Amino acid sequence: MDERLLSDNITKLLERVRLVAEKSQRVTGDILLLAVSKNHPCEAVQAAYRCGLREFGESYLQEALAKMAELEALPLVWHFIGPIQSNKTRAIAENFDWVHSVDREKIARRLSDHRPGNLPDLQLCLQVNISGEATKSGVSPDELPQLVRKVMVLPRLQLRGLMAIPAPGSDPIKQREPFTKLRQALEEMSSIAPGMDTLSMGMSNDLEAAIAEGSTILRVGTGIFGSRNR
Ligand SMILES: *Cc1c(COP(=O)(O)O)cnc(C)c1O
Repeated sequence: MDERLLSDNITKLLERVRLVAEKSQRVTGDILLLAVSKNHPCEAVQAAYRCGLREFGESYLQEALAKMAELEALPLVWHFIGPIQSNKTRAIAENFDWVHSVDREKIARRLSDHRPGNLPDLQLCLQVNISGEATKSGVSPDELPQLVRKVMVLPRLQLRGLMAIPAPGSDPIKQREPFTKLRQALEEMSSIAPGMDTLSMGMSNDLEAAIAEGSTILRVGTGIFGSRNR
C-alpha cells in the first residue's frame, strides 16, 4: 500500500486515541496501538515499522511465521490473536511474545509446557465471550474465575489480563456495554490474580468506547492498513 496513506492513517488513529484518552482522563502512554497485520504483506509491516509501530498482531499461524522469518532483523513484538488449535501451541510458544486468545486450560498448559527456556514468560490474556454469542470463542464470564485459577499457576506464562471481541454495533453508547463488562470482570479477577493489568479490547470501529472503559491494548487492522482483501 501507499506509505503516505499508511502514515496518514496512523497519525489519524493516534489523534483519535489522544482525544478520547484526554476526555477519559487517561494517559495515552498506557494505551498500546497493536497493528493487526493479518492478510497484509510484509511490506505493510515494514512500512508501519517506519511509521513508528513496533507491536503487531496476527491471527493465522503459517502467515505469521512466514512474516517473522522475513522480518527477523526488525525488533518487533508479535501478538497472537486468533483461534488456537492444540497442534499449534508449540509454534506459538516458540515464536510469539503475547497470546490474547486463550480460552481453555488445555491450551494454556501446552503453551506453558512448550515455552522455550531461553525466552521470557509468554504474556497471556484470556479471551472472554463477553456478548454471550453461541458461535464465538472465549470462556464464559461464569467460568472465568476457575480458568484464571488454573492458568495463573502455570510456570512459563504471565497472566496479564482479558481480551474480548464483542458483537459489532455502531451505536457508541451500546458499544460501551461489553467493554464495561470486561473491565468489571478484570476488576473482579484482581482478588484472585492481582498482577492482571491488561484489557485487550477495541478495534477500528469501537476504539473510542473501549478507551473510555479502560482498554490498554487496541487491536487495529483496517484503521491502519485499510481493508483486507480476503
Ligand atoms: C482482525 C482482528 C482485529 C482487527 O479488526 P479491524 O476491525 O480490522 O480493526 C482485531 N482483533 C482480532 C481478534 C482480529 O481478528
